[in-house]
Amino acid sequence: MELTIVKTENPKTMPPESELGFGKYFTDHMLVVEWSAEQGWYDAKILPFGRIDLHPASTVLHYGAEIFEGLKAYRRADGGVQLFRPMENVKRMNRSAERMSLPTMDEGEMLSLIEQFVRLEERFVPHSFGTSLYLRPFLFGNDECLGVHAVHRATFMLIASPSGSYYKEGINPVGIMIENEDVRTVRGGTGYAKCGGNYAASTRAGERAAKKGYSQVLWLDGVERKYIEEVGAMNVMFKIGGKIITPKLTGSILPGITRMSCIEVLKKEGYEVEERLFSLEELVSALENGALEEAWGTGTAAVVSPIGKLAIGDKEYVVGGGAIGETTKKLYDILTGIQWGKREDTYGWVYPL
Ligand SMILES: *Cc1c(COP(=O)(O)O)cnc(C)c1O
Repeated sequence: MELTIVKTENPKTMPPESELGFGKYFTDHMLVVEWSAEQGWYDAKILPFGRIDLHPASTVLHYGAEIFEGLKAYRRADGGVQLFRPMENVKRMNRSAERMSLPTMDEGEMLSLIEQFVRLEERFVPHSFGTSLYLRPFLFGNDECLGVHAVHRATFMLIASPSGSYYKEGINPVGIMIENEDVRTVRGGTGYAKCGGNYAASTRAGERAAKKGYSQVLWLDGVERKYIEEVGAMNVMFKIGGKIITPKLTGSILPGITRMSCIEVLKKEGYEVEERLFSLEELVSALENGALEEAWGTGTAAVVSPIGKLAIGDKEYVVGGGAIGETTKKLYDILTGIQWGKREDTYGWVYPL
């Protein structure tokens, strides 16, 4: 795909790394690619970062045709920049697009666009360990018409945000509450797609949990309200009797790249990993008889997020003495070591630019 680059005339100054936070600052440019049913993908451009013009009838504003991805560009100690398994994000973006009747893009083409964009914005990749340039590709239906049908026009964009360390104040285990009312998605729904609508529908439960003093909710399946699915917007893993258990991908769970990477690392480190249905009942009995050793969420933002407290109904359980467990810590060290280039990548996961 031919890419036109229009450089900004007002380059920004990079904010101090200690003040970055998450998703607050953006780089100088943004990538925009248009799609139409007649022409396919066309008009790929990198433009100065700025507001976009939408027709008030644009599909995304009415029918929620929107998907996104989240990945990071990491600064290695030697000054170079690398991505982590970016092809997995590209493939997932296409699977999400297919689910939402949005156009897919050639995998190599999408990866090449991401790569060219990151190269241009390289100076925004911060240098401290734990910080990164967060990359947000997204795609939305953009017909200028209120008719309900598969879109005839769509827009793919990529923006990037220099972001601070998720664990600026150290890794503190979080409190989680079982969600009994709302469900995130259902089998046959959009759970495996990274679409904005899933987030809109799950915000309410997260807010309710926050009011009760918990960081996030533990989602149960939408059909039987019996099996554990995810924690907030992360995948979830449990260590019981030395074994690792994680909910299997049934269609309502987002197939996390961190989840997949953790499973590979755990197996290589000699752990037995079970991907299966895991019921709340089984979790409660592991909590009651003290067999639950560790529990943690996995996702690109935090890598791993240890769970220190679990509230089930009006009972609150402490997990792993409320501290980060040995396996959770090991996963954190191995994955962040590979991502920030401090540790040899024996898996072939890093993608240097
Ligand atoms: C993005 C996401 C995850 C984590 O996926 P990663 O590829 O590991 O970042 C998990 N659950 C939900 C609902 C998500 O949107």
